[in-house]
Amino acid sequence: MFAIALALVLTPQQAAIRALADQDMRVATVGTRLAQGAAAMCPGQHLSTAGLVIQDAAQYSAATRDDARSALMLGEGPTVVGVVEGAGLAARIGDVVVAVDGATVAARPRAGAYDRVAQVEDAIEGATAPKVALDIRRGGASLPIDLAVVAGCRSRFQIVQGGLDKTQADGRYVQISERMLSLAPTDDALAAIMAHELAHNILRHAALKTPSKLAEYEADRLSVWLVGRAGYDLGAVMPFWEALKKRSDYGIFSDGTHPGWKNRLAAIAATLAEVRAQKAAGAPLVPSPQEDASQPPKAR
Ligand SMILES: [Zn+2]
Repeated sequence: MFAIALALVLTPQQAAIRALADQDMRVATVGTRLAQGAAAMCPGQHLSTAGLVIQDAAQYSAATRDDARSALMLGEGPTVVGVVEGAGLAARIGDVVVAVDGATVAARPRAGAYDRVAQVEDAIEGATAPKVALDIRRGGASLPIDLAVVAGCRSRFQIVQGGLDKTQADGRYVQISERMLSLAPTDDALAAIMAHELAHNILRHAALKTPSKLAEYEADRLSVWLVGRAGYDLGAVMPFWEALKKRSDYGIFSDGTHPGWKNRLAAIAATLAEVRAQKAAGAPLVPSPQEDASQPPKAR
């Protein structure tokens, strides 16, 4: 990712805002790569991804808004605060988005603080590959830029504040808590848990209404393929899940809906072996048709 290099001393509040924006950037980076890598696995569920993180000063309370402007270079309107590496290279941090594919962004928020950001994100996601045309304001100048967009699986990734070891997928969003983020020391480890939640969305598990152990097996197994397809380190998968297993207070995985850890880890290990074998053979990283991911592993 591109670091936001500002040669100024930040106040504690500005530093906190920047730290959260850095975490947003991390989640956007891993999420974009996973969603794009998974594109072949989610027929009918695509959207365009451009790898931009956009914020609006209106999102911040009156007490923090000026600090947010300073810390993140926010302008008057939805502003680019992060650009995922390898994507959206025509965009720069500090660019204010004025129009997307000719549709002008509202001059000020209407219904809510996020609505201009949502308007830009919706327009980019709905753009027809391979590019989307943005009108932006950079410094004092207005200029048009073409942004490359890539098809990805239809999920938005966001951080939820709070101390729980929590992640969830509702079919549209993948949410990850700040504490779960802190449990994933590297992007490779973060990819393991985010791929699990993306897999729930790809497999449309939210439609099941009630949590199911079989759904967890399916998500665990598909997640390993998604990690491999995105090019993240498969060697980080088992250490992440083993570390999570050691945490006895891990809420969502101890409520009886996630299968027993022993079975889960065995299924993940078995899938890792399959993915590695396919990779070694230079074959596409897709589950073999014989594999029935809905069944728990047998031998135990
Ligand atoms: Zn799950």
